Order: sequence, then structure tokens, then C-alpha cells
Amino acid sequence: MNSSTRIGIGFDVHAFDAGRTLVLGGVAIPGHPGLSGHSDADVVIHALADAILGALGHGDIGLHFPDSDEKWRNADSRIFLQAVSEIMNAAGFDLVNADIVVICETPKIQPHRQEMTGALAEILGVQSELINVKATTTERMGFTGRGEGIACQAAVLLAKPDLA
Ligand code: MG
Repeated sequence: MNSSTRIGIGFDVHAFDAGRTLVLGGVAIPGHPGLSGHSDADVVIHALADAILGALGHGDIGLHFPDSDEKWRNADSRIFLQAVSEIMNAAGFDLVNADIVVICETPKIQPHRQEMTGALAEILGVQSELINVKATTTERMGFTGRGEGIACQAAVLLAKPDLA
């Protein structure tokens, strides 16, 4: 059986909290309500880290960085992705690509897309071309449509470098 490639998916949601700074994909987005959560609530990094952990069969970020642990209160989620990247590399896998969908009515993601892919790529030690960030609304339906928060989905492919 060829187990040299693995796929993973991740999904996360956080509600808006006007008292916090919005951080998406490791990028601070001023002038917009932030997200509530134990850490900095970076919904993009959480979904991406979960996708990578899923591909590795290593559970999820809640398992690795429990929100019951005071150590992670207001934590910079880039720390989580860095740690997950190290788990991935220790398991002998490289990121082939990641595709990320940010689901919200606001903020507009497009102006921040390049900075987000750059920030994520830097943490993972890959070229930013390997990471795609896209966005959609839910046509004003549901919790994202009502502007209650932001959801994010991520899919990744991992591979072991060719040993031949
Ligand atoms: Mg989360």
C-alpha cells in the first residue's frame, strides 16, 4: 500500500467579539471586530493546523493545545501552526499544497489574501504558491450570513519526499 501521500481537512468557527483584534491567517486586520476564543481565535490557522494534524493522524489542535490550559489564553495561534509544522516534519512529511476557504460576510478577504498566504507559508517553511486562500459569503444566510462570526475550511495534501 502506498502511504506516501495523505490528505486532511479542517474546519473551525469563531464568533465576533468587538473587544478583540481580528487575526486571520497570522495577519492582524485592524478596523474590524475580532473573534472570541481562548487563544487569539485565528480561525484560519486553526482550520489549517487541524487539516495537517488530520492528515498525520494526530487528532486535532484541541488535543495538542487544550483550551482548558491557561498557557494558551490569548495565545498567538502562529505558535500552534509552527508546532504542527514541526510534528509534520518529524513524521517525514512535506506540505504539497493547502487550500483554504474563509466563510464570512465581512471583512473582505481579498485585500489581505497575499499577506495571509505569505504569513502561513513562512511559518510552514514553504513557497506561498503552495497555499491558496479564498473566500466566500453564505449569501446572508446562517450565522456567517448574519455576521455573527467567521468560519473556515482547509484541505491539505502531504507527501513523503521520494526516497528512490
Ligand atoms: Mg478555533
